[in-house]
Amino acid sequence: MNEAQRPIVYRIARAVQDEEISRKEALHQMQLQAGVPSGSAGILISVFDHMRRGVVYKRALSAPDTDYFFQRIQNDAGLEGLKSALDAFGLHIAYREGMGVGQRKNREVLDRYLALLRRLEVSAASISPSLDKIHQAFEERVKRALQDLPANRRMRLQEAPRLPERVSRSVTLFLRNPDVVAEVLVRARGVCDACKKSAPFVRRSDGTPYLEVHHKTPLADGGEDAVDNAMALCPNCHRQEHFGIPNG
Ligand SMILES: [Zn+2]
Ligand SMILES: [Zn+2]
Repeated sequence: MNEAQRPIVYRIARAVQDEEISRKEALHQMQLQAGVPSGSAGILISVFDHMRRGVVYKRALSAPDTDYFFQRIQNDAGLEGLKSALDAFGLHIAYREGMGVGQRKNREVLDRYLALLRRLEVSAASISPSLDKIHQAFEERVKRALQDLPANRRMRLQEAPRLPERVSRSVTLFLRNPDVVAEVLVRARGVCDACKKSAPFVRRSDGTPYLEVHHKTPLADGGEDAVDNAMALCPNCHRQEHFGIPNG
């Protein structure tokens, strides 16, 4: 698409999504108003729909077109909308890379928006006085990371900065990488990395074994937020690591 076509295409794709016009009418209008042939129009409508639903799409959009869609989605659908679109895009990139198609430009766009999303999430969280909100939001992200394919998680881990971002409030928080937590929990298979006993209980929320992910070298001491600096510990061993010495 060129710059004149993008706003027209977006408006029409959104009208289909909002069920204001039929798909057939949309194809006609894209041809009429923007000169987009119906084959391409069909792809654009479909990609937009997949972005809004956060599911993988297979046909490619150029990086600048994707960028434009994201700007508009963020504007129209806020943080949640942008998150869905980025989920869909991440899956799309993984799919195309699986087909052997280089995704350097797309990855640049993805990284840029993921960084933006982090900043927006932090500022959204800092509006709330409660640190709990931040922890809850993080738990959600870990849950999502766990539900994702291991291959996707590992791919993100390879790209992820090993030093965590810091944000300043009255305290400094580390924005830990949910993929590190997920990966360490999967690796542990419900068994404490220190005492080698099964997790003492399961989480009330979802029935998974309760283990806590601990950094061997603390982040506060410059430790890396990386799988090889992390272990899954039962609460006893975790407390011991931080506060105790072995008993006997
Ligand atoms: Zn233990
Ligand atoms: Zn710890």
